[in-house]
Amino acid sequence: MNDTRSLQTPHPLAAGMKGRCPRCGEGKLFAGFLDLAPRCERCGLDYAFVDAGDGPAVFVILIAGFIVVGAALVVEVMYEPPFWLHAALWGPLILAVTLAPLRIVKGVLVALQYHHKAAEGRLEGRERP
Ligand SMILES: [Zn+2]
Repeated sequence: MNDTRSLQTPHPLAAGMKGRCPRCGEGKLFAGFLDLAPRCERCGLDYAFVDAGDGPAVFVILIAGFIVVGAALVVEVMYEPPFWLHAALWGPLILAVTLAPLRIVKGVLVALQYHHKAAEGRLEGRERP
């Protein structure tokens, strides 16, 4: 039982969706809209380990694309509206379904990275160059 992560560690999905620290579940994870704080203000967890990369954007793009393209196709086939109406409808929807979940998805991926101790692959016994 050398695991320092106690049973009081919050569920990664709950902590991530709230934008809270993955270790204590109380400190803020974000300093800006998508910028991470340097460390947890409560437990002091250093967020330098975080490397979500393009993961949040990929998930959001795939889900948002499915929603917006599907809705645009259904509306086009059923109602055949003019193109200006397509632009008026899907422009705001694109903003809503991409910006709103981006922070939540990033928080969840960071919490899952901490929970599963995910890190860059390394070969044992070899020094870094
Ligand atoms: Zn914390």
